[in-house]
Amino acid sequence: MLLESFQDPVTARAAADEAYALAGRLFPICRSITGNGVRATLDLVETVVSLTRSEVPSGTAVFDWEVPREWNIRDAYIADASGRRVVDFRQHNLHVVNYSAPVRRTMSLDELQPHLHSMPEKPDWIPYRTSYYRETWGFCLRHADRERMQPGPYEVVVDSTLADGHLTYAECVVPGSGPGEAIVYTHTCHPSLANDNLSGLSLVSVLAREVSRRSPRRTWRFVFGPGTIGSLTWLSRNESILPGVRGGLVVGLLGDRGALTYKRSRRGDTPTDRAAEVVLRDAGADARLVDFEPYGYDERQFCSPGFDLPIGRLTRSPNGAYPEYHSSADDLAFLDVDRLAESLQVLSNLVGAIDANRFLLNLSPKGEPRLGKRGLYGMVGGTSPGAFEHALLWVLSLADGQTDLVTMARRAKLPLVLLDEAALALEQAGLLQAADQPIGRPIR
Ligand code: ZN
Repeated sequence: MLLESFQDPVTARAAADEAYALAGRLFPICRSITGNGVRATLDLVETVVSLTRSEVPSGTAVFDWEVPREWNIRDAYIADASGRRVVDFRQHNLHVVNYSAPVRRTMSLDELQPHLHSMPEKPDWIPYRTSYYRETWGFCLRHADRERMQPGPYEVVVDSTLADGHLTYAECVVPGSGPGEAIVYTHTCHPSLANDNLSGLSLVSVLAREVSRRSPRRTWRFVFGPGTIGSLTWLSRNESILPGVRGGLVVGLLGDRGALTYKRSRRGDTPTDRAAEVVLRDAGADARLVDFEPYGYDERQFCSPGFDLPIGRLTRSPNGAYPEYHSSADDLAFLDVDRLAESLQVLSNLVGAIDANRFLLNLSPKGEPRLGKRGLYGMVGGTSPGAFEHALLWVLSLADGQTDLVTMARRAKLPLVLLDEAALALEQAGLLQAADQPIGRPIR
């Protein structure tokens, strides 16, 4: 299949090390849903894989939304009367509420309090807060530091700009040898947080490079864009290709110690959902499949009823399901490279499964065709068939034109890789027709 290279644990570990190093270079950048932080991020991704970028002007209508003004920030702080910065954006970019409007005022602590955010239950962590669609400003700080603040007055500065500009996203498009499209979407909008979303961003960079070195059947589109408004913008500019989408994934949160979690598409039984079931089964990992719900990441947009795409989501812990989520504790030390490597293996297997999936029609369906004379079956009678022969029989038996390869793997309880090899051998022997869509009518 497409991505056998990551099956070797040494190769997977080396790729995870590379992704971790990329995450380390990306970590200090202050990203948001627009702005120069996103461009600087894509510059670093381009050291791994080449991208095509899009810049969409502020104010562009995107379904029920519009591209917001572009946000850029140089500095932000709260300084006491002696000029000492008690909260300093330059120490940690989570200290400013992301998308804060500019402000420059002198204020008492009481006046400042409504603009401060902290976590009393985790007094040493800085929370991550955003205000994309309501113009305001604010600071996030350790609760322990907040409790030490004196009545003031304080000098309060957010040196940011909110101005007409662009939303930036990028794609790595790898043309396929056959019909059909597949999408991998990862978001690029979080500032210094590691698992959310640098783990996904970094692993997808390495994966996209690997796919681009091979020859996939489908055209793969690896999209790097901000959450929600980014996927909506991409969808609005790519509606013409959507009827050809045969599978895809939203990915993120791939470096924590939680179990791998596949979230089904809204329809729940698309080829991607069936592929995930057999890939996670074959991986033998401590993985789980969960049903769709209309809350989470960009699967909310891809699976909305107007698109209804066969796109699921792969994470380890889901969003909001680990204590460090959306706080300064989601840092580089929180990432586990072994888990990144395991995530990459499963992610690449899933991409391989989506790529290999096809409908198959047995061209010699009346009785079993003679495999021995085609060199496909053990020549010595009387012995029971081996795994490969079993796979040949299962593929021939299920190849009614209406059943795809991942469904065959599920029903036969055999590894998908083995069934793919068997199907290829039968196609080469002229016994099977393969197609991107169901073929003919079911055989009665
Ligand atoms: Zn997030």
